[in-house]
Amino acid sequence: MSDTSLDIPQSNSVARLRIVDQGCRFSMPARSFIKPVQQGQEQLEVPDIAFLIEHAQSEKKIMFDLGVRKDYWNLPGVVLNRLGRRQAVLGIRVDKDVTEVLEENSVQLSEISAVVWSHYHWDHTGNMALFPPSTRLIVGPGFKASPGLLPGYPENPTSPVSADAFANREVQEIDFSSSQLTIGGFRALDFFSDGSFYLLDTPGHCLGHMCGLVRTSPSPKSTFVLLGGDACHSSSCLRPSPGYPLPRHIPDGVLDQDQHFPSMCPAEVFTQHHPQDPEHTHSPDDLCKTPFHRISTLVSSAYTDPATAQKTIDQLRQLDESPSVLTTIAHDPVLVRVLPTMITAPEQDLNDWKEQGYKEKCHWDWLNCLPRRGMPGREQVVREFWRNNQPWPSACAELCAAAGEVTGTGL
Ligand SMILES: [Zn+2]
Repeated sequence: MSDTSLDIPQSNSVARLRIVDQGCRFSMPARSFIKPVQQGQEQLEVPDIAFLIEHAQSEKKIMFDLGVRKDYWNLPGVVLNRLGRRQAVLGIRVDKDVTEVLEENSVQLSEISAVVWSHYHWDHTGNMALFPPSTRLIVGPGFKASPGLLPGYPENPTSPVSADAFANREVQEIDFSSSQLTIGGFRALDFFSDGSFYLLDTPGHCLGHMCGLVRTSPSPKSTFVLLGGDACHSSSCLRPSPGYPLPRHIPDGVLDQDQHFPSMCPAEVFTQHHPQDPEHTHSPDDLCKTPFHRISTLVSSAYTDPATAQKTIDQLRQLDESPSVLTTIAHDPVLVRVLPTMITAPEQDLNDWKEQGYKEKCHWDWLNCLPRRGMPGREQVVREFWRNNQPWPSACAELCAAAGEVTGTGL
């Protein structure tokens, strides 16, 4: 027996899930993430969220991702080089380390038994050195054997990960071949061995990329939250779809207050400029079922294997369509606008997301970022680099100088 049509085994075990929003916001060049890019959406401004997962039976707490370290100017040289040349981001501010948010909410770092990195990029790995040696680090398949990563920076001058993340702690690499389980077509691993939290093998963005799937309510009416990591960077790569088409009128409350949106806004405001229909050959019905964007395939794509990343997204869509699954990709702006976080509502978790109607409230928010009627999408606010809560005008020069003579992609 399984829950939903997604081959998820039944279980009465759940995990408590909370969003850790460190107040990190950055803007990035859209062309590296989505295609095609339309005039008026040249940048994506995004948050960067992490998750606290609490497993009551074992009394274990783990983190899924750690966001960006607050002192991002201390990242490895190869990352600083990209930041300084504004290749990775166009502006960034980070209010707090994830660890500060945890401690402010009476979660001691010594209570965190493990940190899972969805992948090894700088905006997900935080500052692992702040955790005590008792906190295990869990990485995706292939990480340890990759010659470019370990032992880490500065011992390996071109590594994008810091060596101090690994010092004096157990680093465990997930081996999906040890598990017979598949969920939604992905190889899966039952993390606590009771069906409360699974890791999914979701390749394409970079080596070893993994998603998480948390059971937020028990069988037989289980609900789940998909922790999407960077499987994609905009929900417009997932939506709309045949299983969850765009309604003829955009539901109340989805669109920002904007004079360019009529009340009872018809879907045509968006579908008439559907980026996958440049010749206007598709029917309105088709366009309401076709994702607006695909994964960037440019040389500058943030995806090391765009074809595989597209395949992963095409397969994740089945989870995204399910009424039992709430999708959270790490950089989806709607998450910090709608969902409770440990900053805005410290004691509220996501486990009642279905009762709260969060899926409906979140699903179409990305429409606000699209250009419409000749106007750009939602206004962006992080246009520069920030340091210690103030603008940092000399950031690019200083980051490049700190990077030294490094080459390589770092991402
Ligand atoms: Zn990311």
